[in-house]
Amino acid sequence: MDERWDLVVAGAGPAGCSLAAMTALEGATVLLLEKEDQPGLGRDWIVDVESTAFEEAGVPPPDPEASWHQAGGQVMMSPTGGTTIDLLPPPVLPVRNGAYIRQLAGWAAESGAEVRTGCRVLGPVLQGEAVAGVRVAQPGGGEVIIRSNLVADCTGITGALRRGAPPDWDLGGEIDSRDIVQARREVRRIDPDAAAHWVERGDIPDNVRVDKTGVMAAYSVEACHLDIDAGYIDILVGGKLGGRFPTADEWFARVVRRWPFVGEKIFGDGGIIPVRRTWNSLVGDGMLLLGDSACQVIPMHGSGTASALLAAKLATSAVIHALDEKRYDRRALWEYCRAFQSGRGSILAFFFVVQRHIDRLTGDDIDALINRGMITAEDFYNGLVPLPLSYDPLTLAKKVARGVAILPLLTGFGLSGLKAERMMKHYQEFPSAYDRRELDRWISGLPRVS
Ligand SMILES: Cc1cc2nc3c(=O)[nH]c(=O)nc-3n(C[C@H](O)[C@H](O)[C@H](O)COP(=O)(O)OP(=O)(O)OC[C@H]3O[C@@H](n4cnc5c(N)ncnc54)[C@H](O)[C@@H]3O)c2cc1C
Repeated sequence: MDERWDLVVAGAGPAGCSLAAMTALEGATVLLLEKEDQPGLGRDWIVDVESTAFEEAGVPPPDPEASWHQAGGQVMMSPTGGTTIDLLPPPVLPVRNGAYIRQLAGWAAESGAEVRTGCRVLGPVLQGEAVAGVRVAQPGGGEVIIRSNLVADCTGITGALRRGAPPDWDLGGEIDSRDIVQARREVRRIDPDAAAHWVERGDIPDNVRVDKTGVMAAYSVEACHLDIDAGYIDILVGGKLGGRFPTADEWFARVVRRWPFVGEKIFGDGGIIPVRRTWNSLVGDGMLLLGDSACQVIPMHGSGTASALLAAKLATSAVIHALDEKRYDRRALWEYCRAFQSGRGSILAFFFVVQRHIDRLTGDDIDALINRGMITAEDFYNGLVPLPLSYDPLTLAKKVARGVAILPLLTGFGLSGLKAERMMKHYQEFPSAYDRRELDRWISGLPRVS
């Protein structure tokens, strides 16, 4: 069949569905391709999403089927369990990822996009140096070429299109293994009477989410939220695992074995998340990257849904502008890249430096930082908003006074904070228009992060 679209979107996750819906609403002809038989299949974990993101991105908030319960309280616990900090009410909404993706895919279809499932995108079709469509493995076997003016890679960490792009577009290479997080989050049934016994013993609180950080690698979290009345426990494990640490699936199985009251899975899945700064460029001639494919994730804790939704809004204006102008090259699409990198991208880049710093610490270091009040409820809150960590002189003086006993740790944190600030400012000065030499200058000026 000879078909041609304004935009082909590869991958029906939060980024791809939102982009398809918003560009179709603006009158573009849009085809959304998903490799699974149903959008959201195998991706039914809970995501905590910044509550302001839906309105800001112009996407529908989760409907009741896609909404989940917030815990009555939340505490952060040091790796040894010696110190707990009561956290501020988190500025996030818990969302059922699989159900929300299905909701967004339905929105894309209602908005006029065509949604095809069971279609694996194999790579871009290049005409000269520009992308002119995609190669797709058909559900029944065989390969077809689908032509379009623009393509968007929303295939998550797979990066099915960006990997086939010319190298000089700087759409990223392999993700360093230090920047890959494994995670698993499941909601399990419980035996309420047995659970009540463990609560009475003081081993686990009821209706309070407990986040233990640094239990495995320094960059790792184990979060449990038991809700006896609702009859479930929500368990999340994630971090830089593998090597001398168990995988996320092994760690998850250990947590389940620890609590004999935990029963079968109600829903939940696992996956991997890129936690590096966004790639240098997010557009090529005829191509855009969004979401995990662009590494638009908060490197501090691996949250990527809000960034994916916000990127879809910015990319929609660039796509519609390019279609109106009938110009599909990098220059025409650059405004998306500039707007993301100099705004949210700069905050993600800040937290990338912090993430790499945490990676060099040990569990004992994390314990000391929490015990000494170097990591506070406010820091945790800012990481979720997300806002760069910056302190007024009084707060800073208090932290320094409390941290004198752990001076090397304190100094390390201070230096990485300064580098994070430099990184953020560098992203804020992202080139305003596409110019190869200007971009090369920007790349060569990036602060080095070991
Ligand atoms: C266990 C776990 C917990 C998480 N918790 C949170 C959280 O609390 N908060 C938060 O904000 N984020 C969280 N995340 C991260 C979040 O899920 C991602 O950042 C987000 O889903 C990225 O959206 P996306 O649209 O870019 O990509 P994805 O959601 O990865 O979607 C990509 C889509 O592309 C499809 N695809 C892949 N390859 C192809 C191909 N070749 N052809 C066609 N289709 C293809 C996939 O099947 C998928 O449907 C978590 C991730 C995991 C694994």
